[in-house]
Formats: sequence, C-alpha cells, structure tokens
Amino acid sequence: MLGMIMDYPLTITCLLERARRLYAGKEIATKTEGGRHCYRYADLYERVCRLANALRELGVRPGDRVGTFAWNTYRHLEVYFAVPCSGAVVHTLNVRLGGDQLAYVIGHAANRVLFVDESLLPLLEPLREQLPTVRAYVVMGDGPLPDTPLRPVLRYEDLLAAASPAYAWPTLDERSACGMCYTSGTTGHPKGVVYSHRGMYLHSLMLTSADVMAICERDVVLPVVPMFHANCWGLPYAAAMVGAKQVFAGRFTQPPDLARLLQDEQVTLTSGVPTIWISLLPYLQEHPHDLSRIRMIVSGGSAVPPSLFTAYDALGLRIVHAWGMTEMSPVGVLGHLRSDMLGWRPDEQLGTRAKQGYPVPVVEVRAVDDQGREVPWDGRSLGELQVRGPCVTSGYYEDERSAAAFDDGWFRTGDVASIDAHGYIQIADRVKDLVKSGGEWISSVDLESAIMGHPKVLEAAVIAVPHERWQERPLACVVPRPEAKGSLTAEEIVDYLRPRFPRWWLPDAVVFLDAMPKTGVGKFDKKALRAHFRDFQLA
Ligand code: ADP
Repeated sequence: MLGMIMDYPLTITCLLERARRLYAGKEIATKTEGGRHCYRYADLYERVCRLANALRELGVRPGDRVGTFAWNTYRHLEVYFAVPCSGAVVHTLNVRLGGDQLAYVIGHAANRVLFVDESLLPLLEPLREQLPTVRAYVVMGDGPLPDTPLRPVLRYEDLLAAASPAYAWPTLDERSACGMCYTSGTTGHPKGVVYSHRGMYLHSLMLTSADVMAICERDVVLPVVPMFHANCWGLPYAAAMVGAKQVFAGRFTQPPDLARLLQDEQVTLTSGVPTIWISLLPYLQEHPHDLSRIRMIVSGGSAVPPSLFTAYDALGLRIVHAWGMTEMSPVGVLGHLRSDMLGWRPDEQLGTRAKQGYPVPVVEVRAVDDQGREVPWDGRSLGELQVRGPCVTSGYYEDERSAAAFDDGWFRTGDVASIDAHGYIQIADRVKDLVKSGGEWISSVDLESAIMGHPKVLEAAVIAVPHERWQERPLACVVPRPEAKGSLTAEEIVDYLRPRFPRWWLPDAVVFLDAMPKTGVGKFDKKALRAHFRDFQLA
C-alpha cells in the first residue's frame, strides 16, 4: 500500500519522555510560602515516576479518575503527568466551586483519590460525608501532615519518598481519556468534559506553532490561569513538549506578587482572564517593573476591552486576544494581526485585535442562524458559533445534555458571533447574556467593553432586566476606579456611550458597585448580578 505511515499513538507520555531526554536541565519554578522552589525537568521526571508507582499502590487502575484540588505548583504538574501517563484520568477540580457543586462533580466523576493542597483542606473537610467514592486523600505540602478529619489521609512527600523512581510507562491508546474538567453549568449541574491523549497532544503542538503562541525552548511560561481552568489552557503540556521553562505562582496571584514574579523569572509568555490584567494594570502604572522580556500576554475567557489593549501597549506590553472553551481543550481562536493588516491605521488595528481572533489550525468554525443556515463571513451577520476539530469534545461525560450540544457533527458553543472575511470571529455575547429588547439583540459584551474605556471606570458588566414594553433592557453595573468613587455619575456613563451606539442600545440605568462579583475562574459573574437585580425597577 502506498503512503502508509506508522500508527504511532500521540500521548502525553511522549511529551514527558521528550522533556526528559531533551530538556532535563531546564527549570520549573514555583512561588511558595517561604520563597521559591526550583527544580529541573529531570527532577520532575523522577518524581512523576515515583508518583506513578504510588498511584498503583493506592489501587488506581487504568481509566480511574483522580482528582486534584490545588493551586498552580510543581506538585500539581507532577500529578498532571503521572496520572494520565499511567493510564488514569486527571480531574482538575475548581477550588472556588461551592460545596454542593464540588461534592457533585467529585461524585459524578467517581474520583478515587484526591490530591489536595494543604492550604485548601478547610474547603474540603466539611464535605467529607458527601464523598463516598474517595478512597484516599493525599495532602500536598511541605510540613508534617496537618490535623484533618479527612480519612484515609496520606502525605504526598511520604508517598513519593517510599516509591521507586523506576516506572515502565504502559503503551496507551491515543484515544483513551487523559483528563477531565467540569464547566460551570448555567442551569443545573456542571458538565464534565473528557480529554483524550491525542487531543491534548495535538493541542500542545498547535500552541507551539508560530501563528498561535509560538511556544518554544527559549520561552519562560507563567500561566496565571489556574491549572483547574480548562487544562491551564494547555500551557503546561505545550511547555513540556518544547522544554520551555515553566513558572507557577502558587496561590500568590495578587498584583504585587505577579509583577515581581513576571520580572524576576524573566517571563516571556503569560496568560489569564481579563480581570487579572485589569487589576494588574494600576499596580504596574504606579510601580514600574522591568517586564521587557514579555513577548505575549494571552488574555481570554471573556472579552478584552479595547482600552485594555491600549493601556498595556503604552507599557510596551502586547496583549493578544484569545477565545476558547473548556469543551475545546480549550484554545479556539487567537487575535494576531495578519501581514496585510500591519500597514493599517492604529485604530483599525485595534478594531481587529479587539475581535477574538481567527481559528487555530485544529479548529473549524461556522456561525448558524435561527433557521439553521450558515451566515456569511461578512463581519456583520450574527449566528450561533459552532466548532469542530480533533480537540473539541464529542459529548459531556455521562450527561443527557450532550445530545442538544451538537448540530450535525458541530459543537454548539452557545456564543453568538459574527465572522469577517478574514475569518476573525467577534463574540457578541453568550446566548443567555444577550439583551433581547423588542425583538432585537443588544450585545452586553460591546456595551461593557465600551464602558470600561471610560477613564473613571475599573470594571463594568451589562445585564438584561425585565421590561414591560421591551421585554428586556440593559442595566449597566459599574465599579468605579478608587479615585472616582462617589464622583462618577450615571449620566457620565450614558453620555460616554451616546456617540458610540444607537440610541436604543443605551442602558436604561447604571448602578454603581463596590466590587464586581466573579465566577470561580475570575469572570464577571452575571448569574449573580442577574439574581441580585432580579426585581430591579427601571424608571
Ligand atoms: P465557563 O462557562 O465556566 O466560563 P469556559 O471558561 O469554558 O467556562 O467558558 C467558555 C466561554 O467563555 C465561551 O463560550 C465564551 O462565552 C466565553 N469566552 C471565552 N473567551 C472569550 C473571549 N475572548 N471573549 C468573549 N467571551 C469569551
């Protein structure tokens, strides 16, 4: 037969072995309570082998789900490799989930063992009666085993010390599960997404490609995005594939800590949701740091307001917009400018950078209208964004909501978007967040991105409130900058928007908040805002 090539399984084990063979001396640094922990890929490899042996001793079998409840650290990275490479499935738990949801996802995924950061024990302890599937808790920390009612409980470092550093990795089917992650349910329980080795491998390769993140051996990668949020956007695996230095912030993600870490570790690529960069900005403006090594700040998870790009540009820092979903492993599109745009005026360039971007190599997109017709790529027509590709989920884990999530082999994202002639998508809204006013749609994303351009505004979110005549009207919830508290008025906001939007888009009311409620992954929590303003009376 002509053209046959090897049937070679694409697995996370390939990434691990490659890191050991080629990049044994490269560093992995973690900020800790006491200072800094730093070791090399060779050390990572040895400890991953020990951990794989320990998992076997704990009775973890191929296909079993093993949970992590942890910040971004080198230990978490060890679990990221030991569990899937030994054939089990690593399930990263969102440490900010409410108790009932946490108990639900641990039970639904039937987690056998939970790896828990010592500092997070108090969040898990009250749930112990609700976790019948868990056979062992492994505490990750530096000191002796703390007092805890969790049973049976083991110390991570003891497990590793007692285990052999030699482990023969099994040959795995590339289509077998390597990891899973639950995405917050808008209604009902969170939905489980299961990743395959093949999907993760291809996703890693994709992140290293030049028109995506171009992650390479010379990079120093600091994911601010938590390791429990959609695979940490795939960065730890991609970094290992090319031997990039990795930096983890532990639980220290406040602006002063981040600024120091970005500077001292000479980070070249970092990533996180816009709220991270919104809160870091004033700190950097007041406390200059040498961040000249940073070549890309990847911001995704919710829309980046145009004003944030320009503010970071002024500091010499380049934000690149990204869009994705837990269901997509997660990266879907990236907002680099193309060669023919480099001569454009700055405002035209900004308009394109503020779109979410065009599809990465493993992703295909289309937008579909109410009648199921694909809308033209004209940058105007809106439709539900649908995606397919080798890193897109094929269904939710044991969940009857899976069927409704697909349309003829395409995954329905639940986002409303336009696609322009270059293939750049622009997210108008999540379907459930659109303001439906008199049969027309108002994009809450457009409004809030514009409001955040007002110099007195720190954060803004727009939600729909019920209206007798128009069904729904927009309510703007605004957090002023500290120095503008008390002086910023609703009129100022509406006047600022007036030249930018049609009259009927303008919010009917503006309310001022001290702080924006945030979801477990740091996005503006519109569910909470809607609940809070359920009975809001528009004048
Ligand atoms: P959650 O639903 O818990 O927020 P995800 O992080 O998987 O979980 O969220 C994916 C969703 O986040 C997308 O469907 C989209 O609505 C939103 N999103 C992600 N990136 C962007 C972006 N750059 N701009 C606007 N919305 C985004």
